[in-house]
Amino acid sequence: MKTRAAPAANLAYGFETRAIHAGAAPDPTTGARATPIYQTTAYVFDDVDHAASLFNLHDFGYIYARLTNPTVAVLEERIASLEGGRAAVAAASGHAAQFLTFFTLMGPGDEFLASRALYGGSLTQFGVSFAKLGWTCHFVDPADPENFARALTPKCKAIFIESLANPGGVVVDIERVARIAHAAGLPLIVDNTLATPYLCRPIEHGADIVVHSTTKFLSGHGNALGGVVVESGKFDWAQDGRFPSLTDPEPAYHGLKFFENFGDFAFTMKARAVGLRDFGPALAPMNAFLTITGVETLHVRMERHVANARRVAAFLAAHPKVAWVSYAGLPASPYFELAQKYLPKGAGAVFTFGVEGGYEAGIKVVESVRLFSHLANIGDTRSLILHPASTTHRQLTEAQRKAAGAGDDVIRLSIGLETADDLIRDLDQALGT
Ligand SMILES: *Cc1c(COP(=O)(O)O)cnc(C)c1O
Repeated sequence: MKTRAAPAANLAYGFETRAIHAGAAPDPTTGARATPIYQTTAYVFDDVDHAASLFNLHDFGYIYARLTNPTVAVLEERIASLEGGRAAVAAASGHAAQFLTFFTLMGPGDEFLASRALYGGSLTQFGVSFAKLGWTCHFVDPADPENFARALTPKCKAIFIESLANPGGVVVDIERVARIAHAAGLPLIVDNTLATPYLCRPIEHGADIVVHSTTKFLSGHGNALGGVVVESGKFDWAQDGRFPSLTDPEPAYHGLKFFENFGDFAFTMKARAVGLRDFGPALAPMNAFLTITGVETLHVRMERHVANARRVAAFLAAHPKVAWVSYAGLPASPYFELAQKYLPKGAGAVFTFGVEGGYEAGIKVVESVRLFSHLANIGDTRSLILHPASTTHRQLTEAQRKAAGAGDDVIRLSIGLETADDLIRDLDQALGT
């Protein structure tokens, strides 16, 4: 909810200009040029009438930081602009953003489809924790988009995919899945975390909602958790009575109908005014500030992340101790063609490779690197390495690990912004030629 239009959100400006300016203006009181951190819990009302109109959602403004905050609002408007969306709501983490998205769409007994190639935490959130709320997720192999059409049920409320999935560099045919979703009257939700809007803009390919873990490349420095939900503003929530949470009277707001009242930003309003209000995963102003600062260099960083990733992937592909490299930016990848279409500026900077010698060899590599950090994160300025079989996926059986793309020989890299030759030398010594 912004009370005043910010200058550069409009799409006439280039991506780089919007990454720096969208949603922000010099502070009207002090002239502060950087977006201030509004470290406040609440905001003073002008008078009782003003308070009443804010609480009734008749007026946009600030009440309490669980709902809105001016620093967070700048980030929301900026990401909405970069994705080419209508509006956005930020959340405390990527998982909180996913929860808000599904809470806004689903009721107990509802179902949705999700690609099987997802971030591991999303597989658990959808498959285990959402089940406790009465929401059923059917996982689908995205290699053939028709698998989504075959898996649809009358209770489905959405289809969820990642534009570029980790691990394994899986690129999904967004336009084909969007057509399948729309033919069934459903919105397509795309997790665009690994690509960022610099490399891929799912709304341009038919997505209705884009979610992000801003924790990764958007903030970009490994220092701020966050998430955001962007809506395209193009989905008709009233087409067949399938989304009562958006079309029916909302008891907590005197019978307000969100879609009727807010139209092309009804989804965002509902996610905020009910989802954030009642569950509380608001983004901290400090984390919004750090993320805004990160986003201002997104285009410059992503270009270098991709350039470094290409060099490291090519080096590994030619290395005698490396069995395979799974990077959609390499012509040998089965996803190379789709990556050319959906990620024309590059296939990101997270990929996996297989080390000759299996489990023991994988452990040796992560314990021998000096520059790469051995940890469970991606999208940092620093290069990161992980052996999923001995860490994030260690509770699974070997067969389950294989199915999840986390077999014993798999090593995942998130390539940072260091000197590419240094990264290559580090991996070379760790592989032990
Ligand atoms: C990290 C990640 C998430 C979850 O985000 P958090 O900010 O850690 O909650 C979701 N999707 C993808 C693709 C991720 O990489």
